[in-house]
Amino acid sequence: MSIEVTNVTKKYGDFYALDDVSVSLPTGQLTALLGPSGGGKSTLLRIIAGLDTADSGSVAIEGTNATKLPPQKRNVGFVFQHYAVFKHMTVAKNVAFGLEIRKTPKAEVKRRVGELLELVHLSQFADRLPSQLSGGQRQRMALARALAVEPTVLLLDEPFGALDAKVRKELREWLRRLHDEVHVTTVFVTHDQEEAMEVADEIVVINQGRVEQVGSPDQLYDEPASDFVMGFLGEVTRLGPVRLRPHDVDVVVEPGRSGSFPGTVTRMLRVGFEVRLQVELDPEFSRGDEPVSVVLSRGHARALDIELGSKVWLSAAVGAVTVPAMVAV
Ligand code: ADP
Ligand code: MG
Repeated sequence: MSIEVTNVTKKYGDFYALDDVSVSLPTGQLTALLGPSGGGKSTLLRIIAGLDTADSGSVAIEGTNATKLPPQKRNVGFVFQHYAVFKHMTVAKNVAFGLEIRKTPKAEVKRRVGELLELVHLSQFADRLPSQLSGGQRQRMALARALAVEPTVLLLDEPFGALDAKVRKELREWLRRLHDEVHVTTVFVTHDQEEAMEVADEIVVINQGRVEQVGSPDQLYDEPASDFVMGFLGEVTRLGPVRLRPHDVDVVVEPGRSGSFPGTVTRMLRVGFEVRLQVELDPEFSRGDEPVSVVLSRGHARALDIELGSKVWLSAAVGAVTVPAMVAV
């Protein structure tokens, strides 16, 4: 294991930012720390980096107990959402900085910077100033700078958070490819489930200072350990005693199998190849609940001849992922 976090607790006054957190992150993997804002992701990352200390518990990096080591002795590289660049230095100089303060020979610095700029596709911008780069290019420069000193571990705290959606999407694909090339153990903080699902080998879901679940993107999506994880990783709707994904609701237009719920289509929206329905269950089944959300393919909706006001019967599809609904009584 590259990073072992064991029983880490961090309090601010009476408030537990991290409450007895243990996680193991394997060498060479890209792990996402995913969860809502305020859940403790940055606190955990800062404790791994040595920028913050835990009240109790330990951190080991590549088998060395790092709990009391200062950040510069942990051999970690960081990139944050708003990265502090040296504004008066060129892109190449920014990337070279860490190597120069380590007194790396000039020729070696030149070679390494050339390699890194190529890796992050900024070779043609080597002599520009950071202010002459786009936001996405600046974050790529920040990554090259963090990688320059060959860290054992790369820590990224919402590195693309300040960028617009399209650039963010490009950069996450780019980060995945970069990781496949360099294989440095990487921990990536995000509150965006899609970003985590697309980029990470493994996801650690963190909420209210605790680890909710650890698993591959597929495991979390298909076998959520809790209602919280299920709701955080995708859309969820309630059908009687269970919660499930809207595309896992089976729709028929005649009284269906026993235990199906009758209702009426009260909204119908076409989005690309999907049809999204809201179904109001008959009063004896709905007891004033929210309408059920259902997603069908356009072809399926057409085959069923569903329209606004149609009478339908709903049930959980065979093989649907469900969790018990918390029912207020
Ligand atoms: P995340 O990165 O998941 O959004 P953080 O780790 O930044 O969450 O914060 C977790 C909780 O700890 C939040 O409620 C935050 O307000 C609190 N917190 C973080 N840093 C401090 C601090 N220096 N002083 C007091 N509270 C803090
Ligand atoms: Mg944060």
